Amino acid sequence: MKPTLFWLQGAGCGGDTVALLNAESPDIIETQDALRFEILHHPFFSDRNADSSVIIDQISSGQIKLDVFCLEGAITLGPEGTGMFQTVQGRPKHEIIRILASNARLVFAIGTCASYGGISHACDPDAIGLQFTGDQAGGFLGKDFRSLDGFPVINLPGCPVHPTVLIGAVSGYLHANDLPLNEFQAPLEYYSMLVHQGCTRNEYHEFRVEETDFGQTGCLFYHLGCHGPLAHGPCNKLLWNNRNCKTRNGVPCFGCTQPTFPKPEPFFQTPNIAGLPINLPDGVDRPHYLAYKGMAAAAAPERLKQRKSRV
Ligand code: SF4
Repeated sequence: MKPTLFWLQGAGCGGDTVALLNAESPDIIETQDALRFEILHHPFFSDRNADSSVIIDQISSGQIKLDVFCLEGAITLGPEGTGMFQTVQGRPKHEIIRILASNARLVFAIGTCASYGGISHACDPDAIGLQFTGDQAGGFLGKDFRSLDGFPVINLPGCPVHPTVLIGAVSGYLHANDLPLNEFQAPLEYYSMLVHQGCTRNEYHEFRVEETDFGQTGCLFYHLGCHGPLAHGPCNKLLWNNRNCKTRNGVPCFGCTQPTFPKPEPFFQTPNIAGLPINLPDGVDRPHYLAYKGMAAAAAPERLKQRKSRV
């Protein structure tokens, strides 16, 4: 029997679906051919004309087995806990989310809003993630939620999530590969590395040759707010459209995979005290890092100082 998939859109921009359309290897058609999903519902990809509320009722009554439930976007509880800011045929969407989550073998939070609240939560505190609100476990379904296969919500953060991560994680779990999760329930396979790993500006970072304005060639950490050494994600390993990512293109990483995204400070400024960043690379000891960086800057080769190495 074909595995079934129900994809619901919560409070968000729909960017994860748009990113999925850009999947390249495999692309979305190859994925569909390989996994042979029956898409019960997706706002854009459904191959059925049936009324989604009828399908939801059939899932709820056990007439249809649901293998994979994907939620894109946060869960809206406002105003005043009613959820009536976001409805389907007059019914609060959060009711439907609970029905689908409790009847699915696997539940995926697609993107940072569904995982942790993300931008939607920053705009409206009543918009929360499936099993987290920011970095606090709980969220809409509660800490103890487990899907029918015994997993917590599998978070695939990113604003948007990279399509290869999405396809790889869904197919991996569906074929019974238990990919270990990190403390924020994101698969380590994709979220154990830092965005900084693989950045083409690494040598500039190493010798503290820094950009002070956009369009230069150095590292973006000290002045322009780059979160690459703090944010977990494969952005410099799995490139977008197989060719690029923010930091390679001169745009600082703003840490969109992190549960605390977005931070209250401006995206493109590094919070600092006397010119020294407040937030250092993940797990780094401040006195040693600052001593090392001072020495590295003194040792920077001319070709980097003159920005002769292309990025
Ligand atoms: S630009 Fe960002 S990701 Fe790239 S080397 Fe500098 S800190 Fe790391």
